[in-house]
Formats: sequence, structure tokens, C-alpha cells
Amino acid sequence: MNSNLKELLETVVSKDFCIGCGVCASLENSPLKMQLDKKGKYKPVLLSSKEDTSHDYLAVCPFSENSNNETELGRKFYGNLEDINHNEYTGFYLKNYAGYVREGSFREKGSSGGMGNWIATQLLERGLVDGIIHVKSSETKNNSLFEYQISYNKDELFKGAKSKYYPIELSQVINLIRENNGRYALIGIPCFIKSIRLLAKQDPIINERIKYFIGLVCGHLKSANFAKSIGWQLGINPTHLESIDFRKKLENKSANNYGVEVKGIKGNKIEILTSPTKDLYTTNWGQGMFKYNSCEFCDDVLAETADITVGDAWLPEYADDSRGTNIITVRNTDILNILQDSSDKIFLEEISINKVYSSQAGGFRHRREGLAYRLYLKDSNNEWRPQKRVVASDKINAKRKKIYEKRSELSQASFTAYEIAEKEGEFQTFIDYMNPMVKMYTKLATPTLLERATTKIKTKLVDKFENI
Ligand SMILES: Cc1cc2nc3c(=O)[nH]c(=O)nc-3n(C[C@H](O)[C@H](O)[C@H](O)COP(=O)(O)OP(=O)(O)OC[C@H]3O[C@@H](n4cnc5c(N)ncnc54)[C@H](O)[C@@H]3O)c2cc1C
Ligand code: SF4
Ligand code: SF4
Repeated sequence: MNSNLKELLETVVSKDFCIGCGVCASLENSPLKMQLDKKGKYKPVLLSSKEDTSHDYLAVCPFSENSNNETELGRKFYGNLEDINHNEYTGFYLKNYAGYVREGSFREKGSSGGMGNWIATQLLERGLVDGIIHVKSSETKNNSLFEYQISYNKDELFKGAKSKYYPIELSQVINLIRENNGRYALIGIPCFIKSIRLLAKQDPIINERIKYFIGLVCGHLKSANFAKSIGWQLGINPTHLESIDFRKKLENKSANNYGVEVKGIKGNKIEILTSPTKDLYTTNWGQGMFKYNSCEFCDDVLAETADITVGDAWLPEYADDSRGTNIITVRNTDILNILQDSSDKIFLEEISINKVYSSQAGGFRHRREGLAYRLYLKDSNNEWRPQKRVVASDKINAKRKKIYEKRSELSQASFTAYEIAEKEGEFQTFIDYMNPMVKMYTKLATPTLLERATTKIKTKLVDKFENI
């Protein structure tokens, strides 16, 4: 076997650092094929029937030791732009905004302020691209609810609005792009955009055809069991779940108090069922149930290699509006011009780096301080782990160490608990298995009165100095 491919399989894949992006399987004549594993995550599997190829598999993998990191890629694409800035949390940036779409139903149909699909529509309508590569409900019968597809107009784009906290992979759609000449924009989570940026370095067709990248801020990705667990709690057997809306806006509630909607067979008829997310057992993002292990070793929250990144403005000044507001980081001048040229269509307010950080504070802490500690633990045990920009360190207090350890354990245990519950056919089995861990974690992670007061003072000070 090509030693390069062997190394990828023996490190990233077998040690569970694979995010299932599918780019290794997309290389011409790759002997790899993407398949959903028992835990509901995409993984590359080796097809013995196929001849090996001499491609550089390690160079395209976002978690290998031999690929460029996000800062190196960002510098290549944005480092020489006039007015470019750099920050350790956002990567390179021209401007940061909070905002939402005023025109049409982008905001109503979107997860947050609707900017993701709006900017994609602008690229299409201004003739800058011919198609948008993004995630929609599956059309193929492949055991998966969502997949990457290409949309060519606004109506097709709307059918794929909203966040899919669900495994997806790129190998099929990359082949489609190779076969169909055109100019495309790709919407994706940070690691997927990084892997296409890496692929483009060795694939001139992909390099030529994908013109723009729209990134989504990313906390972590979920296995397919997350969606099944939600349906199951609402009475739909995991094998009978037909569709899910992970981000149903609830009128008159705060933006972060959203709901889920599932469709599937309950009893003997098809039902559509809705619930506030906070009433479900598996949906607390801090607990990270059904999280890919690779997400524990990722330091790109803001899609640093994307031309524009959109996320949720989890900030007190926007949280009350259930219609949703985006945070937006812009790195590409064409896209900045589109935004600045559209004041009649969108609302934009320039915000500071501190505000961007605050809107994702939990995510940054987990992926900076927490990642440093997880890397330290791997190194202490002499275990292989991917190279990161964050340096391994155990210089945090004992309580934070415990929180990160318990969070990882909880996330891993959710896969075992789910497997047992499925065998027994009872969701209550999942709850019984997880409850002791959840209780211990909640006790540990709930801030004390003193910690709460300190955070409040820090936030007030940041606000005060920003307004001077
Ligand atoms: C796995 C995941 C984790 C996220 N974590 C965070 C977080 O921690 N903090 C935060 O602020 N925001 C996070 N987001 C982003 C957030 O949920 C919204 O997607 C974002 O704010 C854009 O909202 P919008 O209303 O502008 O998008 P819309 O106008 O609804 O457009 C969203 C576009 O993204 C595409 N899309 C949806 N899911 C995926 C996917 N999995 N892969 C590729 N394309 C996709 C859709 O097809 C659609 O075209 C996450 C998104 C995902 C998918
Ligand atoms: S992360 Fe992507 S490129 Fe790396 S092994 Fe997994 S599927 Fe292949
Ligand atoms: S947390 Fe990182 S590795 Fe995980 S899905 Fe998001 S960008 Fe990819």
C-alpha cells in the first residue's frame, strides 16, 4: 500500500481523529469509500478490489501531520490584502459584523439571520458563480437524511436552508464538480473548507472551479445518532425517522431558545412533532453528546480559511430577537463590497473582536484552553495526536481540568449508551446509563456565585472600554 495512505489510516482514521470529510476518498482512483459506521459517523473504508494510487493523502487531510494549518492557508489567501487584520480567534479578517437579512424570507427560513443563504444567492444573482454546493435533505437512498448537493437558484437554495447537525461528506459532490464545468461557491463547516482548500492545492480542476467559500461557525459536529435520539424522545423509533429541522424558531422566545421538529412514523401513521430543544435530554451542547472525537482536537471555530464566515450572534443585545441574528467575519473584498452595497436589503452593525469572541466564548475556551489540556493528556500518555496551532499545556486550575476530562468522557459514553439502548429498544436505557455522568458533570460545570459575579464584572468592563 502507498505508505502515505497507510499512515493516514494508521493515524487519523484508526485513532479516531477523522471528521469524515471524504476528501481522501475523492482523490482520483482512491481505494477509499465513505461509509456511515455503527456510531453514525462517516469514515473512509478501504476497498480491497481497487488499485492503490500515488496521491498525497496526508496533504489533503485536515487532521494529518503533513497538511498546512489554517493560519498558513489564511495567509496565502488573505495575507496580502489591503486593510487585512489578524487575530488569534478570527484568523485574518477585513471586517466583523452582527446582522441579518431584511429582504424576502431569508431570515425567517434561516437558522440565524439568514445571511448564509443570502450571500450565496447574491453570488448567484450577480453572476459570480453558477452553483452553490451546500447541504440539503438526501435525494439518494443512502441511509442518510442529509447530503451535499448543488443548487442553481434561490428556490433551490431555500430547500437547504438551516443548520444540519448531522454527518455529511464531500466525496460524491467533488466528483460531480469534476464532471460539470462551472464556477461554484461552497458552504461548509471550518474543517471541510480547510480540506477543500488543501485538495485544491493538488487538484487544478477543483482549484479553478470553486471560487468562493462560505464558512459556518462551528461548535462541533454530531453523529447521526443525535438526530435519531431526538426523534426517539418524541416517540419516533430510530428506524422510522424521515426528516428533522434542528433549528425551529420559537416565536416570542429568545434566539437561543429554539426548537426541533421531526417527521416520521409514530404508531402507524406519519406525524410531525415539535419540542423546545431545552426540554430534550441529548441537546445540551456543553455536554457534547454524540460529538465526533476529532472536534475535541480542532482549533478553528471561525472557519479561518473561508471568504466569509457566518454564525449565531449569541450576545445579550441580540438574543431577545427570536428571528435570529448572525455574527459575520469577512475576508474577501468581493464579498465585503456586496455587503456594503446592500444596506437596503440587510442590516449590518460593525462589531469589535471582543464581541465576536464573547458570542462564542464557550467554544473558544473549549478549543483553546481545553484543547491545550487534551493535547497535554495525549502527550503524557505517549499517544499519537494531530499537530495543532495550540500548544499542549496543563496550566489551568484543577476544576477546569476535571470539567474537560468529564466532558470528553460524557461525549464518548453517549455512543455506548445509545448502542445499548438501541439493543434494548428503550430510550430510558440511554438516560439510565448517562444520568450519573450528567449529574456529576452538571454539578462540576455550574459556576459558583463568585465565578458568576467575576464573569459579570469582566463583561461589564469589556463593554465599558469598548464604548470609550
Ligand atoms: C455542525 C454545525 C455546528 C455549528 N456550531 C455553531 C456554533 O457553535 N456557534 C455558532 O454561532 N454557529 C454555529 N453553527 C452555525 C449556525 O448554526 C448557522 O448555520 C449559521 O449561523 C448560519 O445561519 P444563517 O441563518 O445565516 O444560515 P442559512 O441562511 O440558514 O444558511 C445555512 C446554509 O448552510 C448550509 N448548511 C447547513 N448545515 C450545513 C453543514 N453541516 N455543512 C455544510 N453546509 C451546511 C445550508 O445548506 C444553507 O445553505 C454551526 C453550524 C453547523 C452546521
Ligand atoms: S478527515 Fe477527511 S481526509 Fe482525513 S481521513 Fe477523514 S475523511 Fe479522509
Ligand atoms: S469542531 Fe472542528 S473538526 Fe469538528 S466539525 Fe467543527 S470544524 Fe470540524
